[in-house]
Amino acid sequence: MAKRYDVIVIGGGHNGLVNAAYLARAGKKVLVLERRYVLGGAAVTEEIIPGFKFSVFSYVVSLLRPEIIRDLDLPRHGLEILPLDGTMTPMPNGDHLWRVNDHSKTRRELERHSKLDAEAYEEFGKSMVAMCRFVKPILAMIPPDPTSLDPRDLKKLAFLGKRFQTLAAEDKYNLVQLMTMSAADFLDQWFETDVLKATMSASGIIGTFLGIRSPGTAYVLLHHYMGEIDGAFRSWGFSRGGTGAISNAIGDAAREAGVEIRTEAAVTRILTKNGAAHGVVLESGEEIHADIVSSSVDPNLTFLKFIESRELPGDFLEEVRRFKYRGSSGKVNLALDALPDFTCLPGPGRHLRGAISISPSMEYMERAYDQAKYGEFSRRPYIDMVIPTLTDPSVAPPGKHILSCFVQYAPYKLSHGTWDEQREAFGNTVIDTISEHAPDLKKIIIGKQVITPLDIERQTGLTEGNIFQGELSLEQLFFLRPVAGWARYRTPIRKLYMCGAATHPGGGIMGASGHLAALEILKDTGKGKTDRGGHSRNRDYWRRPQRAGRRVLPREKGPETTAARTPPNCRRRGRHRGISSWLPLLHRCSRRWPAAPFNPQRHAPKPFRPRTFGISHTLVSPIARWPRTHAVHGSRLLRATN
Ligand SMILES: Cc1cc2nc3c(=O)[nH]c(=O)nc-3n(C[C@H](O)[C@H](O)[C@H](O)COP(=O)(O)OP(=O)(O)OC[C@H]3O[C@@H](n4cnc5c(N)ncnc54)[C@H](O)[C@@H]3O)c2cc1C
Repeated sequence: MAKRYDVIVIGGGHNGLVNAAYLARAGKKVLVLERRYVLGGAAVTEEIIPGFKFSVFSYVVSLLRPEIIRDLDLPRHGLEILPLDGTMTPMPNGDHLWRVNDHSKTRRELERHSKLDAEAYEEFGKSMVAMCRFVKPILAMIPPDPTSLDPRDLKKLAFLGKRFQTLAAEDKYNLVQLMTMSAADFLDQWFETDVLKATMSASGIIGTFLGIRSPGTAYVLLHHYMGEIDGAFRSWGFSRGGTGAISNAIGDAAREAGVEIRTEAAVTRILTKNGAAHGVVLESGEEIHADIVSSSVDPNLTFLKFIESRELPGDFLEEVRRFKYRGSSGKVNLALDALPDFTCLPGPGRHLRGAISISPSMEYMERAYDQAKYGEFSRRPYIDMVIPTLTDPSVAPPGKHILSCFVQYAPYKLSHGTWDEQREAFGNTVIDTISEHAPDLKKIIIGKQVITPLDIERQTGLTEGNIFQGELSLEQLFFLRPVAGWARYRTPIRKLYMCGAATHPGGGIMGASGHLAALEILKDTGKGKTDRGGHSRNRDYWRRPQRAGRRVLPREKGPETTAARTPPNCRRRGRHRGISSWLPLLHRCSRRWPAAPFNPQRHAPKPFRPRTFGISHTLVSPIARWPRTHAVHGSRLLRATN
């Protein structure tokens, strides 16, 4: 008889694996189906050139949730994160900007460019940390539905409102600005050094088809600011063995928890019956059945390729079709015979151990976008480079190096020709651009891999090559990701869930989508208790029952036995919830209660009082920034007069 599973997870990317691991740890029988021969999706290490192990797509890590690292005990499964040391930006005039993890060194470097910016940088850092503290719990939260009157949603919204209130006034304004402004405009308010603003604004455009002057990019900047490694806020790192090592560590933890993983098993269809999913069909024609299907691939594949459109509500389908991908990134991985020599800081040194950013000016960044807008790849692109071999020599033969170059913009849709025709030219453009700053580069290249957005789509299944399974623009975030009303990992098809980066909190090697989706699946199947902060209140609940020394409860055998736990004298059979589940009913009843009698004093019109300071004022008026600007410029004045 064919094997039956509790859950089938489509896709063995890191989110699919996290999802599977948590479900298996709660006692589910889980099967992961991965299309490729290797696990990891966009977080994968492959030996493309003999001896050189490229982090083919994603190359640095920071956002991976600490609770996932802890819960799955990833260091025991081989995860090791090595710190990335700052960012160096070569400038066309032969100078450079080099920010390192050492605070006082960075300050001295910034002072070399602008004393004002050195001061503002500290203040900026503090403010960003405050905003990250506000936003971070949201990453670990199942998005509330703002249109719902469910007390659990209202509680979450109240929690967010309360947190917002705890922010200092200045941070409140900053947060609203971050949510609405462009990265360039936001940074213009803080700094005057062009190269500093250009390099910092680059975080705002990664993975989006937007320029640094497009509204909404300031939030993406914050998204990339939120990382932490081993408790060190805002730091980025390499995973030893490449980003594939992260996926492999999660895969090992999943296997240990009992997950079965099949590679080279491409799903072509999701089986449904009476509006509920009950299995999948593989490319080979094999049918596999399960109580639940959890899809870690994007909405385009899940709903438009794997399911007949008649199975889905028309308005939902419309929203899925409207979901924006618009891939804009490419990658060039180079195998090098030696280290590149940058004219701005010649010779080997610490400056090569961090990121090297080709983002010399704001104008350069915006022009790079201009070409992409009209369907061409940037002739002088923004490039974010790392040399992982300086931190982790295990990924290349002794004495050799890897230069990993993330490139933007490479629009998925070209106005002329195809990506197969343009691949070589794109690779050459990237190499030429780097050579302007490191003239010896071409001589030391011994192999290269050029990845266009079309290649990203072909290899990972990421639609239009969008690195985040869908743009991280404001209208596609939080309770709107991937579709308004369906942001809580459930779908209009019962027993079909989403668990990939297309769901909240979005892309990057974070694992949060897989984790939160697992919590929701367990909630629906009678397991798991809370999503607050992404943690279970009773941590032992998540361990496999036998290992936690816990008796296997009858309800863990399946959802159908849930009723067995309801007290026999309880009139409401099925799921046994607390008083909070009655509150929506009370609310509905309250609408029928008679209105309070008219009270002339309470209902008298209030006298008009103009608002002296409001959010709209803050949004439009630079005066809102006055106290800080004044302080900074004040100090310049002081020094000038001294
Ligand atoms: C070029 C590039 C650079 C990036 N750089 C970084 C970075 O430096 N740092 C960072 O944090 N993030 C980075 N990212 C983003 C990050 O890698 C992704 O957001 C993240 O890996 C998405 O994980 P996921 O598990 O949700 O989805 P995916 O990784 O897309 O996994 C989906 C999986 O499903 C599989 N699949 C597809 N179709 C099928 C099918 N029909 N049947 C079965 N399986 C299927 C795929 O093969 C894949 O393994 C980068 C991404 C790219 C593409």
